[in-house]
Amino acid sequence: MQRKTVVITGGNRGIGLSITEAFINAGYFVIVGARHEMGLSSRFGDQVSFISADVRDEAAHRRLVDVAVKKTGTLNVYINNAGFSEWRPIEKIDEKFFDDLIGTNLKGAFWGCKAASSAMQDGGCIINISSIAGKRGSANNSAYCASKFGVNGLTQALAKEVGPRGIRVNALCPVLIPTDGLIDALKSPFSPAKGDPEGFISKFIADNAALKRLPTGEEVAAMGLFLASESASAMTGQCINVDCGVFPQ
Ligand code: NDP
Repeated sequence: MQRKTVVITGGNRGIGLSITEAFINAGYFVIVGARHEMGLSSRFGDQVSFISADVRDEAAHRRLVDVAVKKTGTLNVYINNAGFSEWRPIEKIDEKFFDDLIGTNLKGAFWGCKAASSAMQDGGCIINISSIAGKRGSANNSAYCASKFGVNGLTQALAKEVGPRGIRVNALCPVLIPTDGLIDALKSPFSPAKGDPEGFISKFIADNAALKRLPTGEEVAAMGLFLASESASAMTGQCINVDCGVFPQ
């Protein structure tokens, strides 16, 4: 089988790092775009190419796509994973905060979709890492929820637009995964954890998760690999929960 190429934004840590590892292990050429290298090359050697990229910048996505095509001759999969969460009540949201959060989570995924879909051939696959927060609102989370509802809308609309060219576009919607980014965000007094991430997570699991645990980055990555595979060839425009049964009421 011919080796495939994947671009992963934010593939240097957190959920993105789990995705990077899974795609390396599945034999893909992996290209990671993020602002910091975080020891990727010492860990994975030439199995991964790191490109310095700020996802808020459209040109950065074009560079990632160009590198993929120049290095490997093709772009099969593009994963818009880069993003962050920060809880704030609406009266504390100013233009800088709004632009940074929407610029990273929504505009970042948008430019990634644009660059990837322009370079992809029949069989191409775009995966957006969205969130359960893209399906339901929660207090002090208006900007983040708006960004992730936007990502789900982008996913559905683009699936319709590029489907006739044989390109599939799907989103994964994880619930809380205790990455460094999430734990930092939960330390905020405005977050539902009110400064006690561990206590909040335990209670959240007991009250909300059907499986009485939270998903892992590896489980998100496994769903990503499935979506990128031929087994998912009929799936497009889907926003799939990876949430251990939190979403159903
Ligand atoms: P982390 O905070 O652990 O990592 C964030 C990643 O995004 C890093 O790789 C970071 O790299 C990258 N990133 C952030 N801003 C930019 C930028 N401007 N340009 C390029 N890269 C950027 O986050 P998680 O792993 O927790 O989250 C990853 C994704 O999953 C996000 O989209 C998040 O919204 C989503 N998600 C996370 C959940 C969770 O509970 N953890 C739940 C649901 C969804 P660098 O700083 O080097 O640029």
